[in-house]
Amino acid sequence: MVVSPVMKFGGAALADGAAVRRVCAVVAGRARQHPAVVVSAHAGVTALLERQARSAAAGHRRSDEVRVRHHTLLSQLGLDSELLDRHLWELASVLDELRGRGELGRAQLDFVLSFGERMSARIVAACLREGGVPATAVDAFDLGLTPDGAMRARPAFESAVRAVPGIPVVTGFLAQDGEGNLTTLGPNGSDLTAALLAEALEAGEVQLWKTVPGVMSADPSLVPGARLVESMSFSLAAELAGQGASVLPPRALEPARRAGLCVRVLDVNQPTRSGTLIEERPEGEGGVRAVAVASEPALVALSLPGGGTTLAELFARMGAQRIAPRFTLAERGGVTVFAPAGVSAERVARDLPGVSVRREVASAAVVGHGGALLGARALEQINAAGITVERAFLGSGRVQAFLVDPARRVAAVRALHEGLLEVALA
Ligand code: ASP
Ligand code: MG
Repeated sequence: MVVSPVMKFGGAALADGAAVRRVCAVVAGRARQHPAVVVSAHAGVTALLERQARSAAAGHRRSDEVRVRHHTLLSQLGLDSELLDRHLWELASVLDELRGRGELGRAQLDFVLSFGERMSARIVAACLREGGVPATAVDAFDLGLTPDGAMRARPAFESAVRAVPGIPVVTGFLAQDGEGNLTTLGPNGSDLTAALLAEALEAGEVQLWKTVPGVMSADPSLVPGARLVESMSFSLAAELAGQGASVLPPRALEPARRAGLCVRVLDVNQPTRSGTLIEERPEGEGGVRAVAVASEPALVALSLPGGGTTLAELFARMGAQRIAPRFTLAERGGVTVFAPAGVSAERVARDLPGVSVRREVASAAVVGHGGALLGARALEQINAAGITVERAFLGSGRVQAFLVDPARRVAAVRALHEGLLEVALA
């Protein structure tokens, strides 16, 4: 029996006409496996739509960027220039309405954002058909895909996706809340859509198609010796994602794991390569085994000297802003939470009484098996490179992490990679 994959293509993989053609060639090459396709909006479109929604609500005149961008795609692909007219017209009228209203709620913003995926699904489906592959665009938000609770896609989702002619090209990122209103799944939500769809369809695997070879042993722009990690366990992948490895979709891993599926990160530019396989597998092959190095260029330290805000309140506020605490340190004199730097973190600190923000630090972490012994080796590498460690988080787990001066981050990442991943470990 052929087990169909769910193939998800991110915005970067759909950036322009040539990229869309490449994606369609990859899908066509696997059409006999009856895949289901999930798409993100074309690169940059979600951010563009968000800007347009905010500027409309602020009373500014509508810009033409979204329309021009999609018309360019249609003409690059030689598709009917009227294919998206209904969507573009509806989007324009929603933006006009926002301008009249003068305010932007979450529901209206989500509605505006939804046009990105709705239009990219139409473009990809039309391009597939043009190439002789039957395909139909499917809007996922009215099919019972809910982001709440167990995040289970309802059977309606499965039957609707199975019912369409040809290959279903499903909108990523869009879902329905408890009241049946359209909602979105947050940044990179399409990965989660793909995993939920795979779970509903009992698909063979979740394929995340990107413009990079797969999960690398370190960021190749920082470490020239970085190489492809051919396979890893869900646990290690989750830890790596938690350390800021942006190629991994933290939220998509859980539904896939729960459904007993594996996840594969693949490269649209080298479609015959096998990429990185993430699968359930027994822990720790014994000995020290570093798998990858991750880093965060800038973390802020939110300190609670005591009094004012509690740690639980701080976590709750960070959760609401979708900021994940990276490291938390409780010691005499108070608690410090290190989190990715950015406007949201600054805002959280400003809004909560007694919370102070400290200068930025960077992290460098090694993820792998070996526990404290791996941590000890990692510390030796950092010391040998003459890098001052502000804090170290070492232990029996799978992450050994160091906070360092941002100016020393790259040196720290290289030292860890060279010392632990470019040599055969004893
Ligand atoms: N288009 C959305 C984003 O840019 C969702 C996704 O790409 O997965 O975050
Ligand atoms: Mg994206």
